[in-house]
Amino acid sequence: MPKATETVLEIDLSALEHNYHYLRSKIKPSTKFLGVVKAFAYGNDSVRVAQKLESLGVDYFAVAYAKEGVVLRDAGITSPILVLHPLPSGFDSIIERCLEPSIYSEYILDAFLETAKRHGQKDYPIHLKFNTGLNRLGFKKDQVPQLIDKLTPRKEVKVVSIFSHLAATEDKNEREFTMGQINTFKEIILEVEERLGYRPKCHILNTSGIINYPEAQFDMVRSGIGLYGYGNEARVDAELRPIATLKTIISQLHVLEANESVGYNRAYKVGSKKVTATLPLGHADGIGRPYGNGKGQVLINGKMAPILGNVCMDMIMVDATGIDCKEGDEVIIFGPQTSAEKMANRANTISYELLTGISQRVKRVFLDG
Ligand SMILES: *Cc1c(COP(=O)(O)O)cnc(C)c1O
Repeated sequence: MPKATETVLEIDLSALEHNYHYLRSKIKPSTKFLGVVKAFAYGNDSVRVAQKLESLGVDYFAVAYAKEGVVLRDAGITSPILVLHPLPSGFDSIIERCLEPSIYSEYILDAFLETAKRHGQKDYPIHLKFNTGLNRLGFKKDQVPQLIDKLTPRKEVKVVSIFSHLAATEDKNEREFTMGQINTFKEIILEVEERLGYRPKCHILNTSGIINYPEAQFDMVRSGIGLYGYGNEARVDAELRPIATLKTIISQLHVLEANESVGYNRAYKVGSKKVTATLPLGHADGIGRPYGNGKGQVLINGKMAPILGNVCMDMIMVDATGIDCKEGDEVIIFGPQTSAEKMANRANTISYELLTGISQRVKRVFLDG
């Protein structure tokens, strides 16, 4: 691996390949696999990730918003792309770029039907989203009759899938609730199938669902975090490979005496002689203030160095006391050697937030094979 000379997010596409094969091995060969590449593929560059996944045979992609799908189409991605949370302002570009909307409310259905009609569409693929307990987006089960009655005479669109999203697949204590969501989804499938006269593709599992509820894989699964190498639990993390390494270098070393302080608001007070390293990344790069004051730790030449004091916009200062290092040496913030999930958990958040928050100022570099 090349040594860093500035702050970079190094993305290992062979690790992505490993994770894809691992997740695929947990489901039947006939089950379709949707790669979730919303939010810049969880911070990893959605185009490069989607290109790699497409070459590996992924069946479908999902993004949150229409404009994320437009970026993939502009880059030549030809696989079907589900837009999970479309808004009416994105409907024209959805149709122009052959993206497939999730239809999650009557308001969204009416607006999309109007757009599809204006574009002269027939059998335009749509996905019906059902709310089985997450209470975020989706139709309720008791809306099925009126929903299908409204859809049946409309030739502009065709329901290609029905789906729902589970609220707590990583939480063993919520097994009963999750089974309830899956059962509600099964009832919805039966009712939709009966009223539509055919059975669209059905899907409900995310990454932790694939691991903990494989019996509910239906026709397709949707994985995001697992592809990027995190599994929400230690035994899964052990099988996956984090694809991203956030690296930087030491800008400057300081030797500080007792009673000096470090950073804004003097948040860290030196007790006894310390060596500090200033690193060229801060909250504008995605290492937020919650990682300050020892919550975040970085790896310098094999040793952990906690963040001292407050995180600045463009810099953090870390404790390099007793670590054999010099200015210009490489520093690892997270990656296979030091987990983004553990770092996130120490700051009371989750890997998803840390990964998706790495800002566009940080250069992405890619490794493959
Ligand atoms: C983000 C998202 C996923 C992916 O979840 P992971 O836990 O990252 O696998 C799947 N389905 C929906 C509806 C989502 O919003």
